[in-house]
Parts: sequence; C-alpha cells; structure tokens
Amino acid sequence: MQLIAGNWKMHGRLASVAAIDALVAAGPVPGARLLVCPPATLVARFAEAARGSHVEIGGQDCHAEPEGAFTGDISAPMLADAGATHVILGHSERRAGHGETDAMVRAKAAAAHAAGLIPIICVGETLAERDAGATLEVVGRQLAGSLPAGGPLVVAYEPVWAIGTGRTPTPQQVAEVHAFLAARVPAGTPVLYGGSVKPDNAAWLLALPHVGGALVGGASLTPRDFLAIASAVPAARDAA
Ligand code: PEP
Repeated sequence: MQLIAGNWKMHGRLASVAAIDALVAAGPVPGARLLVCPPATLVARFAEAARGSHVEIGGQDCHAEPEGAFTGDISAPMLADAGATHVILGHSERRAGHGETDAMVRAKAAAAHAAGLIPIICVGETLAERDAGATLEVVGRQLAGSLPAGGPLVVAYEPVWAIGTGRTPTPQQVAEVHAFLAARVPAGTPVLYGGSVKPDNAAWLLALPHVGGALVGGASLTPRDFLAIASAVPAARDAA
C-alpha cells in the first residue's frame, strides 16, 4: 500500500466537505491509502464525513503540549478527539514561516504519538542547499533531529524548491534522496515524495524505489486530481 496524503494548507470552508463526500463515493483505490489533512477548522467535519470509509483525516500541525495557555495553537489530543489519525509536522512552510526547529518537530512528534496519532515528518532542502551539494547533509540532519524515539511514523521528502512551483526533481534526484532516507528510518516507515505532484507526473514518481506514496498540496484540493494521483500507484495501475 502507498499513502497518498493531501495537504490542504490554508484552504477550505465547511462546504468543502463535498470533496470528502466525493472521495468516499468513489470507493477505495487499489494499493492506495487516502489521507486528507485540512485546516484545523475542518478536521472534525471531514472526519465525520469520512467515518467508516477508506478515507482518513489528519491535521497539519500540533503543539508539543496536550493543553495549556498557548493561544491559537491546536494540540495532538484535540486533533485525535476531532477524528484525525495523522498529523503533518515540520512542513517547510512551518519551518520557514514559524521558525520551527528540528527539536520542536521531534517534541511535536512525541506529542502526536502520545495522542495516538501518526506523525508525518517533512524534510527537504532549499534550492541554494541543493546547488551547494548539501542535499543529503541537510535532509540527514533534519531527519536525525526530528525523529521521535519509537512509534509509527511517516516521513515525507519535500524539496522546498519543488513545493507549489510546478518543478520536480529528476527521477535520479528523488531516488537518491529516498534511498538515503529509507536507510535511516525504522523498517516499514513509508517515505513519501512531495513537491508539485500532479496527475501527469505521479506515475513515474510513485514507481521509483523507496517511494512509499505522495504528499500532495495543490492537486489534493480537487478530488478528481487527487484520485488520479492515487490511481497512479503501481498496484492501482496493475488492477486497472
Ligand atoms: C506541500 O506543500 O506539501 C506540497 C507538496 O505542495 P504542492 O503539491 O502544491 O507542491
């Protein structure tokens, strides 16, 4: 099974539950697990719409503490209470825009585990870091600093320069980083690729060795595109 996870970022209103209804109505995709991570305001509503179906719902971030005086934050137990099964942590937009460090990501991942959530830990290099030949050093450092001790995990490799830009690395570049990460995560940990995954590039990305699925931003907002990406999982194509 590959995990096809949608990161809705700061998009969606209550009426957007129609997207979950569409994914549920379409039925399971062979070989693919579907996860949608909407803004916190929609987690409970989406989880209710997806209850009992093959579609799972996740959060996009959580605080390291279970509760307290942290205005504007959401805790891992709150996400679990709302019906989430996963939480994205350390996305580059939070690392860059909210000053999140590897140590903070690790603490949040431990909090996610304590609440019964599976953390999806994001790592990825900037274009300047890639051009400087530092990609493996950067993702290796982020991974080593962000992984919690024990517990189920998902890791996502998201080159910062490929997010929302329509640019993707070459197959060789993706394969190199995924082989590097696969050797450094606990056995059985899926390593997703993220960064401008679209219906027209999903097939080759998902067929690469050590790619265990995709973290999809923009294309996850449209059920047709999200399903087309899931249908590009090799097992889904074999079943078609
Ligand atoms: C993301 O932000 O996690 C992402 C992969 O975005 P996009 O697919 O839009 O590049």
